[in-house]
Amino acid sequence: MADLTGRGQRRAARYSAVALLRHGIGGGAWPRAWRTHEPKRSYQVVIVGGGVHGLATAYYLARNHGITDVAVLDKGYLGGGGSGRNTAIIRSNYLTPEGVRFYDRSLGMYERLAAELNYNVMFSRRGHLTLAHSDASLRTMRWRAEVNKLSGVDSDIADPDEVKRLVPFLDTSAGARYPILGALYHPPGGIIRHDAVVWGYARAADSLGVHLHQDTEVTGIDVVGGRVSGVRTNRGPIATGTVINCTAGWSTLVSALAGVRMPVQTFPLQAAVTEPVKPFLHTVVVSGTLHVYVSQTDRGELVFGASVDPFASYSTRGSLEFIEGLAGHVLELMPSLAQLRLLRQWAGLCDMTPDFAPIMGSTGVDGFLVDVGWGTYGFKAGPVAGEAMAECVATGRTPEIIAAFGLDRFEEGRLVAEKGAAAVGH
Ligand SMILES: Cc1cc2nc3c(=O)[nH]c(=O)nc-3n(C[C@H](O)[C@H](O)[C@H](O)COP(=O)(O)OP(=O)(O)OC[C@H]3O[C@@H](n4cnc5c(N)ncnc54)[C@H](O)[C@@H]3O)c2cc1C
Repeated sequence: MADLTGRGQRRAARYSAVALLRHGIGGGAWPRAWRTHEPKRSYQVVIVGGGVHGLATAYYLARNHGITDVAVLDKGYLGGGGSGRNTAIIRSNYLTPEGVRFYDRSLGMYERLAAELNYNVMFSRRGHLTLAHSDASLRTMRWRAEVNKLSGVDSDIADPDEVKRLVPFLDTSAGARYPILGALYHPPGGIIRHDAVVWGYARAADSLGVHLHQDTEVTGIDVVGGRVSGVRTNRGPIATGTVINCTAGWSTLVSALAGVRMPVQTFPLQAAVTEPVKPFLHTVVVSGTLHVYVSQTDRGELVFGASVDPFASYSTRGSLEFIEGLAGHVLELMPSLAQLRLLRQWAGLCDMTPDFAPIMGSTGVDGFLVDVGWGTYGFKAGPVAGEAMAECVATGRTPEIIAAFGLDRFEEGRLVAEKGAAAVGH
């Protein structure tokens, strides 16, 4: 495809019904979604990590600020980390005003993303129900609903009858082992196709001139006089004045290369999917008490998730204990699923912070920025985080929307306290 500007940009093939018809009849191959390059000796900005955060940051740097001399380096393949393993729940019903505002901006960006990228990211607005099985959790739901409403986010308490109306298959009887006393209902929440988001951002960033390098591992970060001067990789050194760490589950290892310590621990998070069945579940259902959540994909599979494994590790193996516990808890909620067969289970790595909020922006090392601490909830933040990190780099200032998430908050005792809204319902 032609280089249209001399700055490495190209016009990406337009995806449309007409193009589909033309290719169907003509049988021509579609052009590759993004190009491969030999790494250059230097880039203005190097982004480590080719998940949704790294790719969105690269895209907004190019689109919003005209900064196109950017490389995204990934030691594996694009989307091979949490971005290709998550359960793709998107919502903004958080607990703190800072969190609600931030995730709500992301939700709005996701709603427009398919049109903006000319890539079908399959956003499906389903409504999101967080069940309360005790008075204490009902109180937290009320609190969340009020914080949400004050920020203009649509959330409210649903009583058990309303819950039954929304999800008839739920056991809402008073005799259930964990009776459902009510729920936080958040109509704007939904699910999205995670791979499509990653590929859509990659394709758009590539078309603006960003270089995407897969199989390119950062093994060292050079810091001279307190300032970043380059990275070392398995494909040679690259000089740069700006490095952004977008490596989620691996982020402490990458920050350590620059001599930066972060209060982050990596835990595996597992999920599972069933065989497809006729659509019957039109809402995302979460139970914090039972440590389980479930949604149904457009193809009909049920996707189940839970909270992180109980120990820190870099393992991505599934375990029998997880699947046994999960199945038991799902059946407490929906006994009628007993005959459904599980197809697959998997795990990804989650970079957990003490307050369940991210760490974004500058560090003690000039030119070394982080966009990490995404734990079990960071996929939904991809667009807003990319937009804010790009602004950080382009202007040298921290945008207001991420001001609360700085690394210095842990020294200053300004934690954001999102655990009540982010521990299970990712
Ligand atoms: C099972 C599961 C379910 C989840 N469900 C949800 C959900 O429903 N909703 C939600 O919002 N979030 C969810 N999450 C969390 C979400 O997936 C992550 O927070 C998010 O994808 C993080 O994206 P990222 O781009 O920061 O990192 P990742 O997508 O993890 O990408 C990091 C990349 O860095 C690369 N890398 C690491 N070290 C190096 C190195 N030294 N050099 C070069 N590259 C390197 C890796 O190869 C990887 O591709 C879930 C996570 C899991 C595991």
